[in-house]
Amino acid sequence: MDPEGLARLDRRIAGCRACPRLVDWREEVARTKRAAFADWTYWGRPVPGFGPPDARLVIIGLAPAAHGGNRTGRMFTGDRSGDVLYQALYDVGLASQPASAHADDGLELYGVRVTAPVHCAPP
Ligand code: SF4
Repeated sequence: MDPEGLARLDRRIAGCRACPRLVDWREEVARTKRAAFADWTYWGRPVPGFGPPDARLVIIGLAPAAHGGNRTGRMFTGDRSGDVLYQALYDVGLASQPASAHADDGLELYGVRVTAPVHCAPP
């Protein structure tokens, strides 16, 4: 996909408020937090896809987790499913590191993009 077009789409997604019920939920979770993450500033917005725009492989999940992607701002980051996924991608040479901890941890994906049809954490 055109890199500029995908970057524009990601920006639009991150600012989307089209689904009132999902917007209320993601923002409530971001305010109330889980005790273990009390010191985090949750992302609390739609989570864009992650990975290069020219990826030949796309991995599609369901939606971000309330205290995973909704907290960290990166797909499959901050929950157990992400731990398994990124370790597997690293094992086959598709990720630069075996863990995805937060959006600024330096992780790069090689030829794979991770996304979901629903970009907001559902209740
Ligand atoms: S689920 Fe998708 S359409 Fe609905 S508010 Fe989130 S980003 Fe927008």
